[in-house]
Amino acid sequence: MMHQGNWTCASCGKEITELPFEPRDTSNLNCRDCHQKNRGDRPERRERPQRQMYKGEWTCSECGNTITELPFEPRHTDGLKCRDCLHK
Ligand SMILES: [Zn+2]
Ligand SMILES: [Zn+2]
Repeated sequence: MMHQGNWTCASCGKEITELPFEPRDTSNLNCRDCHQKNRGDRPERRERPQRQMYKGEWTCSECGNTITELPFEPRHTDGLKCRDCLHK
């Protein structure tokens, strides 16, 4: 579905009358040409969803280092290993 309206391209100033989406921010719209140009400049990188890190202060049971971040919420705080020891 196309949304009809009267917007201005932020890059070239051309009039935009149709958009494939309803713009929320009308001050930074790009016409189809500029949109494609921008896409050509920097290919869209699909970002991997970042895994949530849990912050805290734990102690590595191997080396005694302080662990401040874990990719999971630890249920048992003893027997934790820091990243270095995990990769050993
Ligand atoms: Zn444009
Ligand atoms: Zn360690």
